[in-house]
Amino acid sequence: MEEFAGKTAVVTGAGSGMGKAFALRWAAEGMNLVIGDIQQDALDATVAELQATGTQVAALRIDVSRLSDIEALADLAESRFGKIHLVHNNAGVEGYLDGKIWEATAKDWDWTLGVNLMSVVYGIRTFVPRMLAHGEEGHVVNTCSMTSVIAATNMYGICKHAILAMTEVLAADLEAAGANVATTGLCPGIIATNLFHGSRNRRAEVSNDGPMSASGSELRDHMHAVLSKGMAPSEVADKVVTAVREKKLYLLTDHEWDSRVVARHEAILAGA
Ligand code: ADP
Repeated sequence: MEEFAGKTAVVTGAGSGMGKAFALRWAAEGMNLVIGDIQQDALDATVAELQATGTQVAALRIDVSRLSDIEALADLAESRFGKIHLVHNNAGVEGYLDGKIWEATAKDWDWTLGVNLMSVVYGIRTFVPRMLAHGEEGHVVNTCSMTSVIAATNMYGICKHAILAMTEVLAADLEAAGANVATTGLCPGIIATNLFHGSRNRRAEVSNDGPMSASGSELRDHMHAVLSKGMAPSEVADKVVTAVREKKLYLLTDHEWDSRVVARHEAILAGA
């Protein structure tokens, strides 16, 4: 997409962190905003910020792991603004981190895969047919992760690998269908958001539980040093706008911090 003004963007997880920054950034481009989040207070705060900029906004408290909630968000968008042009499947949680993968219960899988992965499945299922039906230029952004391109260390990483794969399949299917809709897999590095701070705290708690080896301690210090350089969500939002404008399939934000990511990134770009 090149022209944004007067068009409609849907962003999930817009109550905080990156999602909020994306909503504000699209508003700055003159788009109408439709936002969803599970936290009503956070959603209200984002609505107030958007309205203060004169943006037309509609909001709904949703749980992205429920198809009916995603459909309700799409219905709201269409009833308020007619056509949906841009969808950003963004909401997510760290999910299950408590034990080994074989200890995870069906409930742990349902929660983590539901919020992180099925939400994107439902977002594609719900929004893409509506975009194809109106035929105007559209774009789907899926929030993947650095852990989409480096080894997954937990259930969150498994989901994020799958979301990047899903983004690639979606891009191929859209192209094969001759659709006027493009897609981007956003793989943020370390971003200064609640989710990141939550995971840092959680890791610190876990490692303080028992005796830690010197190498474990060094690794933790190293990770904290890396994490403290987290990119601002607004900076990521700027990059998303550019990627959508240029129809980039892959967007990795700050891959310099880890040579493995640089190598993988280059491999992806070479094949793209
Ligand atoms: P990040 O921006 O790094 O992804 P945040 O935790 O700041 O991390 O933002 C994630 C957003 O997703 C939060 O506003 C949170 O309320 C929202 N969210 C989490 N789970 C759900 C869910 N099941 N349905 C809708 N929104 C959710």
